[in-house]
Amino acid sequence: MSHNPPPHDSPDLGLHELAEPPVQFVLAPPIVRSIADPVVISNDAEDARTGWRRMASRFGGDAASGAISFAVHTILLVILALIAIIDDKGPHGPELVLGPLRETLEEDLNNSQIVLPDVSISHEQQQASKAIPSEVRFPDAPNIESPFAAPTVSVARAQPTDLFRETTVSDLLEATNTPVGGGFEGRTPEQRARLVVARGGTQASEDAVEQGLAWLVEHQRRDGSWHLNHQEGPCEGRCPHPGTVGTSTGATALALLPFLGAGYTHKQGKYKEVVNNGLYYLTGRMIETPHGGDLQEGTMYSQGIATIALCEAYGMTGDEQLKPYAQKAVNFIVRAQHPRGGWRYVPGSPGDTTVTGWQVMALKSAKMSGLYVPSHTTELAKEYLDSVQDSGGVFYGYQRPGKDSGPTAVAILLRMYLGWQRYDSRLVGGFLYLANQGPSTTDMYFNYYATQVLHHFGGSEWDRWNVRMRDFLVARQAPSGHEKGSWYFVDRHGTAGGRLYTTAICTMILEVYYRHMPLYGEDAVEDAF
Ligand SMILES: [Zn+2]
Repeated sequence: MSHNPPPHDSPDLGLHELAEPPVQFVLAPPIVRSIADPVVISNDAEDARTGWRRMASRFGGDAASGAISFAVHTILLVILALIAIIDDKGPHGPELVLGPLRETLEEDLNNSQIVLPDVSISHEQQQASKAIPSEVRFPDAPNIESPFAAPTVSVARAQPTDLFRETTVSDLLEATNTPVGGGFEGRTPEQRARLVVARGGTQASEDAVEQGLAWLVEHQRRDGSWHLNHQEGPCEGRCPHPGTVGTSTGATALALLPFLGAGYTHKQGKYKEVVNNGLYYLTGRMIETPHGGDLQEGTMYSQGIATIALCEAYGMTGDEQLKPYAQKAVNFIVRAQHPRGGWRYVPGSPGDTTVTGWQVMALKSAKMSGLYVPSHTTELAKEYLDSVQDSGGVFYGYQRPGKDSGPTAVAILLRMYLGWQRYDSRLVGGFLYLANQGPSTTDMYFNYYATQVLHHFGGSEWDRWNVRMRDFLVARQAPSGHEKGSWYFVDRHGTAGGRLYTTAICTMILEVYYRHMPLYGEDAVEDAF
């Protein structure tokens, strides 16, 4: 079983065009502001915005060339990064008895056969992008221009197959089996402290979380954004390993998530201003389209991550100013789904498991925050997972049936959120497959998903995984210098996302105890909403 990875030295894919906007934003006021304040952008900044919008891909395969270049590069990186580097398997075998699993077919993930549409940005598109107003204002009241029927909580709750359900009496009776948790209730200071102790965290892991956040604060730009090339901001090149992917929405959202995961919002905690400015930037970057709020800046990766950040911030604070932005971002995801259920870099393309993972997690965050997610969207997402599963749903591939550790980690987590019960033999099989690999020492993308799977499932496998994962990250956090509190590991994702991506992901791995309430078990019963 092996892949045929593209050569390490990728050809010039035009990423230099995407590395940075040509002009820095000039936002006023620069320091203290509320996300309710209007954003006033100078003429220079308008040019910068226009430059970014040229990269925004459109529906129907009519994507900007910059977006395609970005997508190609990301595809190559992601494909290779999905090859998790496995360290020792550990001495312990599976403790749950399973039926026999048939051997998977030989993998054939020749992902180099990607055919890109021949597109280029038209003069009309350029003119249209210039016509976008340079002044972005938050609405005085929620102004949802969703293409869907007006969202109401009762409609969403009436669907028995909905993704994220209210807890019912019958749920409580089956609470160790049926997923009922997963919410944000663990992010209060009190719950965070309780869950750290109850679920396997330590003072050292909590210190590492705070150090990671402190590093992120030091690398936020004056306009509220983060960039994967962290060196050009306040860092001034002092920390090595900048990322190479040029997305400010994706990077800003990725940096916001660990703050939200630890309970810090623009309304609560010591990082109110940091989070506020990040949300301010993110919402200002949204492009209104007939399909919803476009935050891609290149690919659906950024759309998914940015949507999670907006939904979590709204769900945690109930800030009505955020609601229309979060709903529009969700709408864009809904409209970007391929008819067979998945998502990929360009809206409407046949899906892959990793891009699909971010979108489904965004829909889950939306649902838990009281936003509207059509049931047919989540039903279709299940069909996508069916289309890439192997051994009846134990293993998953990247774009077709397979047994790949990265896609399996993503897909098993999605299966949990999409309603599979804890003792479902398919789920248990996938869980044990991940558990027996142990945490990777280089691939934090795999660890991010697998750690959530292991945490939700719990038991001795989780205990064993947790000690190794937790102590490894605590030991490998940069101890000094400007990079103090950050992480970097050499792998494909690390190269593309750099120190900023790696730090955000590692911080969230160490927040696993409270970032999402356990989906199964007594904690889910006690704290289910
Ligand atoms: Zn630095």
